Amino acid sequence: MAAPFYVDPKGGFTPEEVATDPTVRLLTAASLAMYLIKRAKRHTWAELGRDLSGLPGNVLLEPWQVELLAEHDDVLHVLRVKLTGEGPDAQAVAIAACRGCGSWMAAASGTTVPSKCPLTLGCTGVMVKAPAGGPRPAPKLLPDPRPATVLDTDPGEQG
Ligand SMILES: [Zn+2]
Repeated sequence: MAAPFYVDPKGGFTPEEVATDPTVRLLTAASLAMYLIKRAKRHTWAELGRDLSGLPGNVLLEPWQVELLAEHDDVLHVLRVKLTGEGPDAQAVAIAACRGCGSWMAAASGTTVPSKCPLTLGCTGVMVKAPAGGPRPAPKLLPDPRPATVLDTDPGEQG
């Protein structure tokens, strides 16, 4: 079996935003789901299976990611993924959401999402389209850059 790996959402949000902002939670769920659908070589959330049974066994999810996906299950059905090698007729559909009012819309590939919210009258919030997530980069094992002597010095015990 291929080596197991974790998945990271994309979008540049902080863990605090993911924990507390409902719009960020939606965009993060969409980012994760798009990658998972693609990794499973399916087109839609429904094809992947609610229980994620279509996922290759080496794809690992953290508990908060599983929770996030379950929380937005209804919205994730809007997504459609275009697979490598599919022709121009294959359409991809992402999710875009307003950071101001939290409304969301389906955004087909090749269409431009307006920068200002078109969903709520009078709302000037910024629209954000969820990018597909990706595999978490493996941690790099680098040599310790500190000189060895630093390890022998404890400033707390000086003087
Ligand atoms: Zn809005």
